[in-house]
Amino acid sequence: MGLFGKMFDALSGESERFPNVDWYCDRCNAYLNEQSEFDDHKYTWECTDCGHKNSISATNVYESEEDFRTK
Ligand SMILES: [Zn+2]
Repeated sequence: MGLFGKMFDALSGESERFPNVDWYCDRCNAYLNEQSEFDDHKYTWECTDCGHKNSISATNVYESEEDFRTK
């Protein structure tokens, strides 16, 4: 369960809730991590490119792009 490992790492001092996770907009596929003031401690993030509200939660973390495509 790599995901739980990441979450526990976050509790032990990392500033990000989901360290090493790349977030992309569900609608326009923009890279959210580098958008102005992006904060993965928020539960939703409104994409600054298209305004889509993306859910920032563990259920949206995929182990790989292949995993993402098949769900
Ligand atoms: Zn977007």
